[in-house]
Amino acid sequence: MKLRVGILGATGAVGQKFIALLADHPWFEVSALAASERSAGRPYGEVVHWLEDSALPANVAKIEVQNAHEALLDCDFVFSGLDSSVAGQLEEAYARAGYPVISNARNFRMNPEVPLLIPEVNPDHLQLIETQDWGSEGFIVTNPNCASVGITMALKPLHDAFGLELVHVTTMQALSGAGYPGVASLDAVANVVPFISGEEEKVESEPLKMLGLLTGNCVQPASFRVSAQCTRVPVIDGHLAAVSLKFKTPNTSVQSAIRAITHFSTPKEVSKLPSSPARALELFDDPTYPQPRRHVNLGGGMTVSIGRVRACPILDVKFVCLVHNTVRGAAGGAILNAELLASRGKLKHRSGVEVAGSAF
Ligand code: NAP
Repeated sequence: MKLRVGILGATGAVGQKFIALLADHPWFEVSALAASERSAGRPYGEVVHWLEDSALPANVAKIEVQNAHEALLDCDFVFSGLDSSVAGQLEEAYARAGYPVISNARNFRMNPEVPLLIPEVNPDHLQLIETQDWGSEGFIVTNPNCASVGITMALKPLHDAFGLELVHVTTMQALSGAGYPGVASLDAVANVVPFISGEEEKVESEPLKMLGLLTGNCVQPASFRVSAQCTRVPVIDGHLAAVSLKFKTPNTSVQSAIRAITHFSTPKEVSKLPSSPARALELFDDPTYPQPRRHVNLGGGMTVSIGRVRACPILDVKFVCLVHNTVRGAAGGAILNAELLASRGKLKHRSGVEVAGSAF
């Protein structure tokens, strides 16, 4: 029997991506949906402005959308694609009511007891859920900001092999990263907006937690420094980042950096999961690659593409990397996190769920 999934924020861009990616999932099935009071009380198919290329599954279209503030969903665990203005309060209510919560929102990412997880990067950090105490069996696991995830995956083999000291990054981020309707068309078309509220702070802090060392029951953040400039560009899907870095190990050559990226392999327990791509990192030789339009869907949107690895005249090495922001950077990353939890026996069928609004 498949595990029953509830989606909080089901009507949003990320919520819709969850539904599209879960359509034929071998372990999980969508059983309940929630959003704001604006969407509640009607079948999902009637309220959603469907943005995905694939058809909305008929069984999901019929599900009545619930008001996320009024009742707990009848399901075994929840994915959250909630707006951050409400995610903190609602995700905590679910954890207190005993649900596993697998969240895309920023609210709990930097909480020292909450894993900020990329299964290929820091699967050991999942241990942190044992330190959480919501007065129930519930817990919260988060996935990183949509730009942080691609950068962190690209940095992982380099940090492991040579130690990072300084990272400078400029992002060119897709419009879908702002949700729907997102950026106004008169700001977006034929333009670049050199500011994304709160984004640089996330890119400067989240990689340090994910590349930090789990010692005992806490993560010691990595000690390198990150400087980020984040921009919004007229691309639909795919965040591109231009990264320059300095290593702790002196005289690290470009060739050895390329070797470290090429030899990166996904941990065995992760490579067996249904959403794990054949290659977590794809390195291109062609100096015009990677490009959002051509490479964003590599590995079903779960592969991070890297190119133009070369010497940096100021720091040591520079490169570009590309991540699918709503797949690896949101719903797909969260589903991979849930698969890792399920494979470790941390997601269970819940019976006799109290669906009244007592937790609120
Ligand atoms: P979005 O398209 O604006 O969707 C937001 C969702 O939250 C909708 O389902 C909306 O329901 C619901 N919501 C808004 N206000 C609410 C309220 N007061 N009470 C209950 N539900 C409410 O945003 P998104 O792009 O999908 O992002 C969702 C979350 O994922 C955000 O926290 C975002 O930071 C994070 N994230 C996004 C991306 C990305 O690439 N887009 C990547 C990583 C993480 P209604 O439709 O009923 O208003």
